Amino acid sequence: MSGSSRQLRQSGRYRALSIPDSVVVKPAGVEEIKHVLGPDSNFAAPFRPMGANSSATECTSSSAGTVINVSAFTQICNIDTSANTVTVQAGVHIGHLAKSLASEGLELAGGHDHMSRTVGGAVAGGCIGPAFGDDSAFFASQVKSMRLVTPAGKVLEIRSDQKNLLHTFRLSFGMLGVIFEITLRVRPIRIFAASHRRCSFDQFASVMETLCTVDVGLKFYLLPFQGQVYLDIRRPVTDVTADRRIPWKIKNWGESAVLPQIVKSISRIVPASGMRYQMIDGISKLTQTVVNNRFVNSGSNATALMSRMKDNYPAQKLCYSTWIFPASEFPIVVQAFRDFCIRTQNESGFRCDMPAVGFRLGKDASALLSPCFDEPMVISTQTDGWDDFAIDFSDFACHWAGVPLFNQTREIPANYPAQVFGSRFEFFRKIRRQFDPDNRMMNPFLSQYFL
Ligand SMILES: Cc1cc2nc3c(=O)[nH]c(=O)nc-3n(C[C@H](O)[C@H](O)[C@H](O)COP(=O)(O)OP(=O)(O)OC[C@H]3O[C@@H](n4cnc5c(N)ncnc54)[C@H](O)[C@@H]3O)c2cc1C
Repeated sequence: MSGSSRQLRQSGRYRALSIPDSVVVKPAGVEEIKHVLGPDSNFAAPFRPMGANSSATECTSSSAGTVINVSAFTQICNIDTSANTVTVQAGVHIGHLAKSLASEGLELAGGHDHMSRTVGGAVAGGCIGPAFGDDSAFFASQVKSMRLVTPAGKVLEIRSDQKNLLHTFRLSFGMLGVIFEITLRVRPIRIFAASHRRCSFDQFASVMETLCTVDVGLKFYLLPFQGQVYLDIRRPVTDVTADRRIPWKIKNWGESAVLPQIVKSISRIVPASGMRYQMIDGISKLTQTVVNNRFVNSGSNATALMSRMKDNYPAQKLCYSTWIFPASEFPIVVQAFRDFCIRTQNESGFRCDMPAVGFRLGKDASALLSPCFDEPMVISTQTDGWDDFAIDFSDFACHWAGVPLFNQTREIPANYPAQVFGSRFEFFRKIRRQFDPDNRMMNPFLSQYFL
């Protein structure tokens, strides 16, 4: 165990004292947000904005203070088909927005799964998918302008020509105020070709270098205990017009609903771990083979969306931790990851039951806290249910120069962000202090990095 994992492990042997329930407010309009944050507020700091609450960290919680839930901000204010922009309130679900845009022949740039998340959460937090062409890595890069209520309770508009401010507010994790309205760049629907492949970890590592340099959207599923990788590769086409929804619906349903449910049931009813994991691996392989089939051979960002928007994230919060690795290192990292999973199981008996999901991300310098500012990155989203594993995975990721996302990455060592983001991190902290000198938006989780 390395130095950073000598922190207290949350192995379930120790029970923390019960913490008070936080106050959750659900403002109906901008005046109410101003009232909650303003100088005469009766609500206690720290204040934390919350969208769909699908984040993996405590960035949306405030046990001693107030959570500001923006779910009442659900209007799509204006779709401008000549300027290719949409102005939308922060609580709109991405799925609803994508559907409304599709009816006007428009789509969001970049592939963005998990349609239940909100536009505000996707702009203030990390939101990525298999992007290619001129798509930037993060959803936030599409922001042209925004309106928010500052930590002092004042309305602030950031215009499209205020580039430096926009850079700071994208991926700001709710530390600079509560965003209530956003104007996004959108584009006419484009068709892409999709193909699916299965290979070993060694084969994947050897083609990774090529995959990182060609213009394709790449999503992959790592099954370390099977030694297999499933690839979903998307590339731009001009000669395909097919835009079939049903195969994508089946694919999304299989990946997002069927597999997690079956895995959960097996874990509940099969006590012997050997047999349980054998069954889970079999089902995972079968799901990948069935859902990533030849019927899903073309699509668009409008069709390749999650059809489900009913997820109740707070009630069934999944444990996951996301790290982003430099593309140049990834052929080695992916093999080290397989060995790490196998070693962890041998040593502790624990293993993740769902495949790890990853994407290739392009370089994206549109936000100060962008993890892929300097070079393309590959992301690995690990789903699991055990806090100890997140600590060891964090050790592993830091060793391999992984970059965190503050709403998705568990167990980031306190001194690591300054090291990995360099001067950008200090600059963000300086601006944060100017916007929030009394640290009203700082909960203990964020304080360990940003105070
Ligand atoms: C099953 C599952 C799958 C996922 N898959 C992916 C994936 O493929 N790709 C990916 O990128 N992520 C994924 N995630 C992570 C998560 O969905 C994204 O990070 C998402 O963008 C968060 O959106 P949200 O509305 O849930 O925001 P929240 O979790 O509510 O908030 C995210 C951050 O933004 C801040 N915030 C929210 N709303 C506002 C606002 N109006 N003003 C200011 N700050 C605000 C919050 O304080 C917090 O810091 C997944 C999560 C789950 C549970």
